[in-house]
Amino acid sequence: MSKSHDHGKSNTDDGSYTSPMNRLIRELAKLPSVGKRSAERMAFHLLKASAEDAQALATAISDVKQAVRFCDICFNLTERPTCPICDDPQRDRTRILVVEHAHDLAMIEATGSFEGVYHVLWGRLAPLEGVGPGDLTADALVARVNHAPENWPKVSEVILATHPNLEGDGTALYITQQLEKYKVTVTRLARGLPTGYTLDAAPKSVLTDAILGRQAMTSMNR
Ligand SMILES: [Zn+2]
Repeated sequence: MSKSHDHGKSNTDDGSYTSPMNRLIRELAKLPSVGKRSAERMAFHLLKASAEDAQALATAISDVKQAVRFCDICFNLTERPTCPICDDPQRDRTRILVVEHAHDLAMIEATGSFEGVYHVLWGRLAPLEGVGPGDLTADALVARVNHAPENWPKVSEVILATHPNLEGDGTALYITQQLEKYKVTVTRLARGLPTGYTLDAAPKSVLTDAILGRQAMTSMNR
């Protein structure tokens, strides 16, 4: 509406920036943890950057959308229908370790202390933020326990490695309840992880101890 320029003040909505800049700022501001201010800083950084650098970022974004997808089985990131971990016949397919994000999976892989397979939830339950079970891949996990993928053995253990905080605990409890009617042991990483510690900040040795010392949530083994 107003075309008036207010020098010294940043504004993304009043037309003080030409439209491609406004569009870029608007798109950047949609990213998690990026407020309007940060989006503006990023946009001006890109404006000043070399054409090659700016193009490299644009290409990386478009490649990720074209080449990277979710694994059909575990929702890990992959460039093929299933991920290398699910494809590896040496992995123990009777044990599923459940993580919130792919970077948690990478941390646990880096310890080398887990030989089973994974399931990536892509988040945790956060009722106050409106994140419910439907926003996660929890249903697909239950379906995997109920019906193993073709040529896979029955699942014997589900290890919950959601973060040791209120929401991670709530998510673990929800999944435990969903799995109650199946003959599967549900365990949770040991509390070697201090409360509030995210998996990706935990030292490898602490993470390994947490995996080895996992404790039963419920046991339906009979
Ligand atoms: Zn997979």
